[in-house]
Amino acid sequence: MTVLRKNLIDGEWLGEAGSHNINPSNTNDVVGEYASAGPEEARQAIAAAKAAFPSWSRSGPLARHAVLKKASDEIMARKDEIGRSLAREEGKTLAEGVGETIRAAQIFDFFAGETLRLSGEMVPSVRPGVGVEMTREGVGVVGIITPWNFPIAIPAWKIAPALAYGNTIVFKPAELVPESAWTIVDILHRAGLPKGVLNLVMGKGSVVGQAMLDSPDVNAISFTGSVGTGKRVAAASVEHMRKFQLEMGGKNPLVVLDDADLAVAVDCAINGAYFSTGQRCTASSRLIVTEGIHDRFVDAVKERLDKLVIGDALDAKTQIGPVVDQTQLKQDEDYIAIGRQEGAELAFGGERLERETPGFYLRPALFLGSTNAMRISREEIFGPVANVIRVKDYDEALAVANDTPFGLTSGICTTSLKHATHFKRNSEAGMVMVNLPTAGVDFHVPFGGRRGSSYGPREQGRYAMEFYTTVKTAYTLAG
Ligand code: ADP
Repeated sequence: MTVLRKNLIDGEWLGEAGSHNINPSNTNDVVGEYASAGPEEARQAIAAAKAAFPSWSRSGPLARHAVLKKASDEIMARKDEIGRSLAREEGKTLAEGVGETIRAAQIFDFFAGETLRLSGEMVPSVRPGVGVEMTREGVGVVGIITPWNFPIAIPAWKIAPALAYGNTIVFKPAELVPESAWTIVDILHRAGLPKGVLNLVMGKGSVVGQAMLDSPDVNAISFTGSVGTGKRVAAASVEHMRKFQLEMGGKNPLVVLDDADLAVAVDCAINGAYFSTGQRCTASSRLIVTEGIHDRFVDAVKERLDKLVIGDALDAKTQIGPVVDQTQLKQDEDYIAIGRQEGAELAFGGERLERETPGFYLRPALFLGSTNAMRISREEIFGPVANVIRVKDYDEALAVANDTPFGLTSGICTTSLKHATHFKRNSEAGMVMVNLPTAGVDFHVPFGGRRGSSYGPREQGRYAMEFYTTVKTAYTLAG
């Protein structure tokens, strides 16, 4: 029997049964039952966050440190259980689920430390006898809207800095992964957050999310999701003159040069393109390969793809879990059909797989002979699908890599210091990897991209302060 998970509004767990989530590895398995908020609950949550802000923003480092540290410790202590639950509701493998949970704990630990390192600046004024102080203050009520693909890490990397810098929160997670969201909120609530500081409103984006966008009392919105919804967040935020930060898609290139270490390049491609079922905004969906290594690289990638174990996310042997749901599966299959219509050669996979339990299993797909102009090269698919673009040399590879409406991550596999250095300088992406997969980043350094991938200040690490604080300049005449 499942327990009804409720929304947290002004310190109270509220709501009636409204939705449930399904295990994508076994659609007969209902993970849990969740309250579904409406616009009125969203408004109550916003009002509670607004009322809690004056006190929380003045609470001082020790109170914030205590809550964030306690949350980090509990998440770490429960990493196997939470990681398993995450894998069950989202479909990434057990190892990936536990890894993501550990990362959430590390993020809370990092920002617990940051509360003790808050600082300002003091400078003499150009006017004699006057002192100038520059300090940072919380922004106010922060709306946090998250996607399904990192059910615990993305909420963690938004909630932790928001709390550390003294903001209060209305958190709306993606409908597909309420269990992970509820768990993190439950942990923070029990860690001692005062009522109203963190509110959870599970429900539909078009209802709860939209109510957040439309509220004049939400002072900042941090959003991760699709480009389409990101644009709505932007338009609504400009209307209310609020801060906003968007993390959206990617069409990340992995360049493989003739002088690459083949084993490294194949590892990078398999990990970057297909792990987490390709459902990462940092996935390497364009494999840009120079002529001299093309055939050897393609053969080695196909060989590795053939050995990958695709199956139930909760089976420890599984390397690639199912696609998250029917809608995403259809999108993946539609793009595979589009690639074929466009004239790319489907050299591996792309077909549905049957397993012991009914689930959304798809064999990872590899296209050859694609051009950078094809839709499969320009639009984010968000599944285990990658295409190889054959190029003449490094210069052409760089030009193709940069020719995209996105700019989140990019990677290069090469043993040439010259090309690696040139690529780091000239790749038009927010994050650049040399001999590493395009996906997989540290938790304590900035995350974000350019163009259609991101908007606003960076997330993660100390750079997160830029979004979650506002600067005050104060002048004092000493007399
Ligand atoms: P994805 O394709 O990854 O599901 P979405 O942009 O649809 O991306 O969803 C990301 C988040 O945005 C989810 O939490 C979703 O519920 C929310 N969302 C969707 N529509 C809206 C909207 N109109 N206003 C605010 N949030 C929304």
